[in-house]
Amino acid sequence: MSTACTALITGASKGIGKAVALGLADDGFDIWLNYHSDHDAAISVRDEIERLGRMCVLLPFDVSDKQAVEKALDPLLDQEIPFALVNNAGFARDGVFGLMSDGQWGDVLHVHLDGFFHVTRKLVPYMQRARRGRIINIASASGQAGMAGQVNYSAAKAGLIGATKALARELAKRGVLVNAVAPGFIATDMTAGLPLEEQVKHIPQGRPGRPEEVAGCVRFLCSGMSSYVTGQVLAVNGGLYM
Ligand code: NAP
Repeated sequence: MSTACTALITGASKGIGKAVALGLADDGFDIWLNYHSDHDAAISVRDEIERLGRMCVLLPFDVSDKQAVEKALDPLLDQEIPFALVNNAGFARDGVFGLMSDGQWGDVLHVHLDGFFHVTRKLVPYMQRARRGRIINIASASGQAGMAGQVNYSAAKAGLIGATKALARELAKRGVLVNAVAPGFIATDMTAGLPLEEQVKHIPQGRPGRPEEVAGCVRFLCSGMSSYVTGQVLAVNGGLYM
């Protein structure tokens, strides 16, 4: 890229979001880096981004909290419009459906769907006016195939895929492209407690993915190489779901 562009990445203090932030910084983007609570981790990602020669603004807020989203983004959007938004923040609260609590259900839907809604709705009018932009939603193989023990998470990620396709149709003529990336089993804090040997049995490539392998697809979707790609779900799962 010849001129600096900005990318807002939610949940970028670690894991997939961190890999996306570093990858996009390497591609020449300045980064607005959202996270929730891990300040030390976020500061260390910011340091790495600055070592790559790019700017990084730290934005601690809960994506599911509408007021917090507005308070953080309104002053920045007066000055600059990000080219790319990566909706990545999230977590799982697994459990069998019959015993699932209101909190397990609500928290997961709030972070993935309300989080997408609050952050994306804030940026979309600006992107529409600029007539350019990329929105990438981090979905999951769980939202494509459905996973036992993850009815809440599968519902949230399937909802995110539906939202991706509908928004892609709304925004295509405005030059704003909207896609989803659906990772399979990726080695991050989120999957650290899961039984690796059991998970790997179901993956044709025979190993978990790396956050950088997910970031590679996001980088493609934020680049000029994906200028005719919208409304798609790009799976990064080692063949887990095809
Ligand atoms: P992770 O390593 O646990 O990182 C999660 C990130 O999200 C952290 O930066 C965390 O911030 C942030 N976050 C959590 N709740 C938030 C909130 N309410 N508001 C703002 N930020 C919040 O997870 P990951 O594995 O990288 O997952 C990233 C995304 O990929 C998630 O949407 C997940 O569902 C999806 N995904 C992951 C996998 C996988 O196998 N790992 C597979 C498919 C999809 P703090 O740490 O600062 O609190």
